[in-house]
Amino acid sequence: MVSAAARTPVVPQADLESFQAHLNQSTRILALVGAGLSAASGLPTFRGAGGLWRTHEATQLATPEAFGRDPALVWQFYSYRRHMALKAKPNLAHYALAELARKKEGFLTLSQNVDGLSPRAQHPAGQLKLLHGSLFDVKCSGFFCDHVERNNYIDPIVPALEIPTDESDPTTTEAVQARELDISDHKVPLPEIDLDHLPLCPKCMKGLLRPGVVWFGEMLPRDVMRDISDWIKAAEQIDLIMVIGTSAKVYPAAGYVDAARSKGARVAVINMDRNDEPASGLYKGDWFFEGDAAQIMPEILRSVIGEITEMPDAAA
Ligand SMILES: [Zn+2]
Repeated sequence: MVSAAARTPVVPQADLESFQAHLNQSTRILALVGAGLSAASGLPTFRGAGGLWRTHEATQLATPEAFGRDPALVWQFYSYRRHMALKAKPNLAHYALAELARKKEGFLTLSQNVDGLSPRAQHPAGQLKLLHGSLFDVKCSGFFCDHVERNNYIDPIVPALEIPTDESDPTTTEAVQARELDISDHKVPLPEIDLDHLPLCPKCMKGLLRPGVVWFGEMLPRDVMRDISDWIKAAEQIDLIMVIGTSAKVYPAAGYVDAARSKGARVAVINMDRNDEPASGLYKGDWFFEGDAAQIMPEILRSVIGEITEMPDAAA
């Protein structure tokens, strides 16, 4: 039995109708997505720039220098993040965007998330550009080796990187349930790991593998940036850009909104925070859908994708 409250539309009817009328006839569509897309998946976020992981500043571990200095520590941090991301599941917004990609071949999603949830929701790979890489791509850290392995969901990636647990399992604490991750007081000491037990590149057999995420001080992936730039250049017109769960105030995200607008796109923002508009603001004819992407996306895309239910998880 579905209650009346549960059936109440989360989106004002007039906005829904005008958005869907535009969506139905759109052929070139961009989505720019951020952390808010995954909010309903129960994925913990690190506590801002000051987020601590076992007394280490999380942001200080996300650098090439940290990996060069102490690859075992950095791998332990990322093994933990992979473990946590695998405990989360794609939500209906991930599945809705994946289905829109199957229905509209001129639809491209630009994601700032590294959590692997869009690939796990079977988002067509050619229509998904990961601006910051993925926790589940691993690549060789050797300068002259180009080995990359995509969608590696093995947890732990090597036996030595198994997450140490005790009765205060950090994955079940209240902090995690509150979707914040701060386990600096976790009681289990990190095991010493011999470099021989870290994942080794199977191609060159010399370099250590490293997480395929963009670290502080690194360039965004060149092939991804080129693909996006080619897609935008090739479009005579862009009909729509959806900005989902991200503030789109920083480079390159803000630039994509401007680029889409300059080709005629109308902007639809989907965000929990009514004040979180793109840097350029909203124009007449744009939309702001306030709320959780997992509820809003299936509803506003329904005219094209039909009724969305959860589908197989590629990592399950
Ligand atoms: Zn290699």
